[in-house]
Amino acid sequence: MNDQIPTGSIDEVTVAAEAARFIERGVVPHVIGGKEVDSLDGRTREMVNPSTGRAFGSVARGGADDLDAAVSAARAAYEDGRWRRLTPRAQEAILIRLAGLLEEHAEIIGDLDALDAGILRRYAGFIANYSANALRYFAGWPTKLAGSLPPVGPDYVVQERIEPVGVMGVIKPWNGPGAIFAQVAPALAAGNSVVLKPAEHTPLSATYMARLALEAGVPEGVFNVVHGDGEVGAAMVAHPGINRISFTGSVRTGQALAAAAAQTFKRVNLELGGKSPVLVFADADLEAAAAAAAGSVWNNSGQVCTAGTRTLVHADIYDDFLEAAIAASTDLRVGHAFDEATTMGPLITPDQRAKVERYVEIGQQEGASVVWRGSVGDAEGGNYVAPVIFAGVRNDMTIAREEIFGPVMSVLRFTDEAEAYRLANETEFGLAAGVFTRDIARANRAADALDVGTVWTNCYQVTDAAVSYGGAKASGYGRSLGAPALDEYTRRKSVWSKNY
Ligand code: ADP
Repeated sequence: MNDQIPTGSIDEVTVAAEAARFIERGVVPHVIGGKEVDSLDGRTREMVNPSTGRAFGSVARGGADDLDAAVSAARAAYEDGRWRRLTPRAQEAILIRLAGLLEEHAEIIGDLDALDAGILRRYAGFIANYSANALRYFAGWPTKLAGSLPPVGPDYVVQERIEPVGVMGVIKPWNGPGAIFAQVAPALAAGNSVVLKPAEHTPLSATYMARLALEAGVPEGVFNVVHGDGEVGAAMVAHPGINRISFTGSVRTGQALAAAAAQTFKRVNLELGGKSPVLVFADADLEAAAAAAAGSVWNNSGQVCTAGTRTLVHADIYDDFLEAAIAASTDLRVGHAFDEATTMGPLITPDQRAKVERYVEIGQQEGASVVWRGSVGDAEGGNYVAPVIFAGVRNDMTIAREEIFGPVMSVLRFTDEAEAYRLANETEFGLAAGVFTRDIARANRAADALDVGTVWTNCYQVTDAAVSYGGAKASGYGRSLGAPALDEYTRRKSVWSKNY
């Protein structure tokens, strides 16, 4: 906590006074048409701190009516052009101002994400900056979204225009709540209005950021937030006033959502789960590879889509790798998200913890061996799980096939390059992969062979708003971030004019 900021207290931890006031004012509201409002039927939901298991406040629990009100506000804002008809320069200035406000309030946003998502307090500030970076990057696009004039001969002039799609529905999961601008920034940069539904467990930072958006000058009704569970998400998918959906979440929900969206002909983009392989060849920098592979699984307690949960290691270095991975993990300290000594926070809910523990049992039953298990120490009350490294894992085992979303690392063995690629691709997922080798030609072959949306060579989980990101196979389709993301938030129109 920055010493300059006045502090308050929520659930026995010190937070910025503004974060405390935000929660204590009563029910955390929706933001609809620029107004902070309760649910029409007054329903609320308790917010629970994953670090303590205690309820610490409540949030509006929306339903189809609240969603409908948000869509009306968003449509009205879109139709009258209060945002999309601003000059590109004015849009750019507002998005940049918003990025600055997020950076200025990163401490508060960090508090909010740590409280309801259990994200490490230190890491949570990073997420606010991630959103700010996305805004800064996409702020440059309104001035550059130029269409084209395809040459069709002397009789016609054709404008190929790039237009907003209208009202974008954005549905987000709980594992990085402050990262909403990865989707919302390109949607706004393209001139759309947005209705955002954060995950039901993690509502805080979305409402707070929507407030900052208004302060930055995003006109009322252009960015709306409706809280609620899958009922609101499903209503969004069915609503005729929503033009497209951007969804980040589980495979099962994504699949159902895409099927439902077909009923109203909505295009969707899906950022789903992963079971990402990290390939470690015999010539790799072993320590660096082990630290990156293990770190990717411990990051956010394993609740990250790109977690490198299948580490594929060449047989010649298998034992040394395990030793290095364990050495890179023994200092992990599981605990309260606000405790400065903590390096691994809680999981989101007791259900998620139980699910992860079940996978640890199944892994052992199916013959994998636990070569290292951390401890939860004296952490209690929250959804704490001790991290695990499994060795002797085979690709057909449940722990190698299913996304666990917890701190469980599985180490598999391969003997040659072809086998490494076969094992890496032998999964329903295709989100990302890591490759550790000093052989540039092999790195290039690997990048070619891997059936995934992102390959990291001699690094892992590096991101930049300028670089697109997305999955293959069951990990979804469509790209977020970078120039390709704009395609998800725009449509084309060809206009033919005859020359007399
Ligand atoms: P998880 O909670 O495991 O990440 P989900 O995919 O269920 O997985 O959740 C991601 C987001 O999708 C959340 O905001 C959730 O409320 C929302 N959601 C859940 N069910 C539906 C549905 N049927 N239609 C649309 N959105 C949904």
